[in-house]
Amino acid sequence: MPSVSSVAKKVFMPSEFELIDRYFKRPTQHTLLGVGDDGALIAPTPGRELVVSTDMLVEGTHFLAETDPESLGWKCLAVNISDMAAMGAQPRWATLGITVPPAPTFRWLDDFARGFFACADEFGVDLIGGDTTRGPRAFCVTILGEVAAGRALRRSTARVGDSIWISGRPGQAALALAHLQGRTILDQPRLADCLAALHRPQPRVALGLALSALATAAIDVSDGLLADLGHILEQSAVAARLQIPQLPDAGLERDCLLAGGDDYELLFTAAAESDARIATLAAELQLPLTRIGEVVSGPAGRLVLCDAGGTDITPARHGYDHFMSPAREAESPACKAPPEAGTVSRDKP
Ligand code: ADP
Ligand code: MG
Repeated sequence: MPSVSSVAKKVFMPSEFELIDRYFKRPTQHTLLGVGDDGALIAPTPGRELVVSTDMLVEGTHFLAETDPESLGWKCLAVNISDMAAMGAQPRWATLGITVPPAPTFRWLDDFARGFFACADEFGVDLIGGDTTRGPRAFCVTILGEVAAGRALRRSTARVGDSIWISGRPGQAALALAHLQGRTILDQPRLADCLAALHRPQPRVALGLALSALATAAIDVSDGLLADLGHILEQSAVAARLQIPQLPDAGLERDCLLAGGDDYELLFTAAAESDARIATLAAELQLPLTRIGEVVSGPAGRLVLCDAGGTDITPARHGYDHFMSPAREAESPACKAPPEAGTVSRDKP
């Protein structure tokens, strides 16, 4: 689409088309027609449903100007692939809308594209189109995935009696952020693990695919464990009782575990009879899967967190909301997300 100031735009080199050719036109693996025409052509596998999801990353809201572009490229696609994992889908195709300042530095875009395509290659995603315009730096990825008909994992289908599980080590990304902000000091090798979680989140695609035949509901944790569990509970009209093994003492580590987002681990529910199968799955995937509680009947969304002795230690609020007013935030300070820092953070303003 031409912009309202397309005459002024001509002053800047390279052109939009040179940028697209140089950075975003790559060979595809499973696409009939990719970048270069008015639209892309894809042929979904017969008998499978398409899952579609979009996520934006905006400078100043989700990342700061000095964020490493290669990490940003990776993360911008990884957070979208994570949504496919949470639906139990195989990610297949993506489009990339990108707004960059008038004089994009080649180095910056080179690094961004390297990170983006490293993630695309790792997870078998074809970039099939997008849009490139000038403006404040922002990225918007739309991803398409495939899932066997009727098999997609939803948020609304958890059942009373189900076990609640979390993958990986949630809280690491938030801890890395706290370290970068000088609110804590992490020692190696923990620092390296936490920084990797923050900058190179690993979408749990293999887990999601296995869970499509096993879980009753799932979500990927972007806003914080308790906040995202809250979405499952509300949409499924159930409550939960949590008892998290080795829950850290009250303080930063506990806050990061419960309310830090950005790890992109999968939080899911499954029938209690599947507990043993899920433990085996953890070994097969070499990925920690921890049972953190069970779904109980009660008011939709109610969540009770107990300590090891069974005492209720439920924090007052569970996560972060882009549009939460400062007044409401002040009313409920417990488990508040950490203030913004100089790195990527998907859903914290
Ligand atoms: P149109 O004017 O028809 O909208 P464009 O000139 O915007 O087409 O884009 C030309 C081609 O380049 C299209 O196939 C489009 O999908 C692709 N494209 C544009 N920007 C990107 C991008 N950032 N990443 C991938 N493909 C892109
Ligand atoms: Mg266009």
